Amino acid sequence: MRWTSHRSAGVPPALGVPIITACGLILTGAILLSGAPPEKHLAVYSVAANYSLPLVQRENRSYVGLLELLEPLGKVSAKAEGVRWRLHYNNVEGDFLLGKTRARVQGRDADLTGRFLIENHRGLVPVTALASLLPRFLGGPVTLHEESGRLFIGSVATHFTASLSADNPPRLVFHFTAPVNPSVATEPGALRMTFSREPLVAPASPTLTFGSRVIPSAIYSESNGAAVVTVNASIPVMATFSTDGRTVTISSTSTSTNAAAQNANPSAPGAPAVPGQPAPAASSNAPPAMPPVARRYFAVVDASHGGDDHGETLSTSLLEKDVTVALARSLRQELESRGIPTLVLRDSDANLSLDQRAIFANAGHAAIYIAVHAASNGHGVRVYTALLPFDGDDRGTFRAWTTAQHASLPLSQSAASAVAAEFQRRQIPVRNLTAPLRPLNNVTGAAIAVEVAPQGSDSSQLTAPDYQQLVTSAVATAIAATRDQLGAAQ
Ligand SMILES: [Zn+2]
Repeated sequence: MRWTSHRSAGVPPALGVPIITACGLILTGAILLSGAPPEKHLAVYSVAANYSLPLVQRENRSYVGLLELLEPLGKVSAKAEGVRWRLHYNNVEGDFLLGKTRARVQGRDADLTGRFLIENHRGLVPVTALASLLPRFLGGPVTLHEESGRLFIGSVATHFTASLSADNPPRLVFHFTAPVNPSVATEPGALRMTFSREPLVAPASPTLTFGSRVIPSAIYSESNGAAVVTVNASIPVMATFSTDGRTVTISSTSTSTNAAAQNANPSAPGAPAVPGQPAPAASSNAPPAMPPVARRYFAVVDASHGGDDHGETLSTSLLEKDVTVALARSLRQELESRGIPTLVLRDSDANLSLDQRAIFANAGHAAIYIAVHAASNGHGVRVYTALLPFDGDDRGTFRAWTTAQHASLPLSQSAASAVAAEFQRRQIPVRNLTAPLRPLNNVTGAAIAVEVAPQGSDSSQLTAPDYQQLVTSAVATAIAATRDQLGAAQ
């Protein structure tokens, strides 16, 4: 168990295309938190915070609330008196008049490029005014990407390079100057990374070419508050993230040794890479290069931690990440033997971010997500449900991600109670708890975490197959008993 998240940036990605991520799982998505078309928004990047604000269309242009824009950056207040709207930001005063195209900041004239509006006491300015207006308040430079709705305050840009390896098939390696956490989508012939929260900026040329038939090019673009890097590839590819989030490797899915990929799609042809013979080029009219998951899973079992994230060091020779994989496999076996189709999220020693885990659980519409942890302290089992934040630390459109679990929490608690009751019945010590344990709060369906500790003080019991089965069969029995209730919400 380790409660701190290594990568906490939570962006609900817009899915609707098959996605594939670090561990090679393939899912067709038709989700996620909202089916509504994306509203226009302005992404703001600063040293203090990265956030997103909704834009409104007035007078044939985009407007943004000035108070809301400055709020995360400093001490700000505003007062509306009739047609007059006064704003204080730190020690700077702005004086605005309804319908006027000019304002005064610290007594000096400022061009708003369009008329100032007041709606519900909110002062609205045209986005086009920000490049000249904001430096007057902030005392430093800003860079506005007006077309794509991105605003950079100070020197916050994240840059990147891309280089092709000499392997066959080649791998494309991206290096970023700061950690990134894009959402990843694939379509025939391309893999797309969308950076919603990162101040990613274009390379010298937006089109990078690599002189390879397999991965000919990558293209940088921006729109609606996000930067997008599209990798063109003639073979199915996937993205793998380094633990520090600064390196993303695009490689062929068919050379992946990841067992989870096999597990996710047992019917996949799994065409091996033949040196010198790249797979046939995928055209945009071709069927998806990656076949979708044929099965619909009732349960998603997540072996917590993995890769560079070892979890708890249970003993000198025992890492939590290895115990959780064994427990997850055992739980899958117990669930499937009860007729419950189960996907193990991490079936190898792979790096998988907390966001990716939640995205998988959500995209697959599983009836229940079960995260497995192991611990050396305490006795027996702890069953957790999410403790939701009262108010997410994220802003605007990102907030829903931190409380995605909200609607399903009663179902999660009901499942957790059933699991705890089954442990009690089997006289295994159990506690039922709530905790701010990610990614439980990001999962839209029922979600619980099961943390297994030894019954005594000997942590080697965690590796004993009979103890593992004792625990996982109890969980599986409880899930099977609540199957109808869980399935009704699926
Ligand atoms: Zn853990």
